[in-house]
Amino acid sequence: MGVMNKVPVYVEKLPGGAIITTKLDDVLNYARASSMWYLLFGLACCAVELMATGASRYDFDRFGMFFRASPRQSDLMIVAGTLTKKMAPRLKRLYEQMPEPKYVIAMGGCVITGGPFRYDCYSVEKGVDHIIPVDVYIPGCPPRPESLLEGCIKLQEKIKKQKIKDWA
Ligand code: SF4
Repeated sequence: MGVMNKVPVYVEKLPGGAIITTKLDDVLNYARASSMWYLLFGLACCAVELMATGASRYDFDRFGMFFRASPRQSDLMIVAGTLTKKMAPRLKRLYEQMPEPKYVIAMGGCVITGGPFRYDCYSVEKGVDHIIPVDVYIPGCPPRPESLLEGCIKLQEKIKKQKIKDWA
């Protein structure tokens, strides 16, 4: 993914070997950006594109991204589909069970604004960011796998700018 190329690494040759120096921020950010394990959160039709992205043609694995069925093993939640008011408390609870640092991608018009259900619909949330914080928004109905991959790259870029003190 080219992430490694952007980690500044300094090699000093010493008699009998060498030492590598870099910043702890860069090492942690490299690890985090290169192994985003995402919690399955498919809620409606957008989830079909999420599944396609995880399959062999688009191959999420090459980003170091693997799906998890447990929030405790996940550091990324990809919310894909129509979020109903009934589901919203479950989503919040699962988000709270994820360990820090954690990230959220909102995939599709329904998750971002309510989409086609924004008006005259009593049962759909009008934006997941009313419930949990969102790092990257991917519009579309549904967004194609290429859009989701682009969103993941944007999230990686965001992660690479983090500082340890932000989490203290
Ligand atoms: S944005 Fe479109 S494709 Fe995605 S869940 Fe809503 S209606 Fe379905």
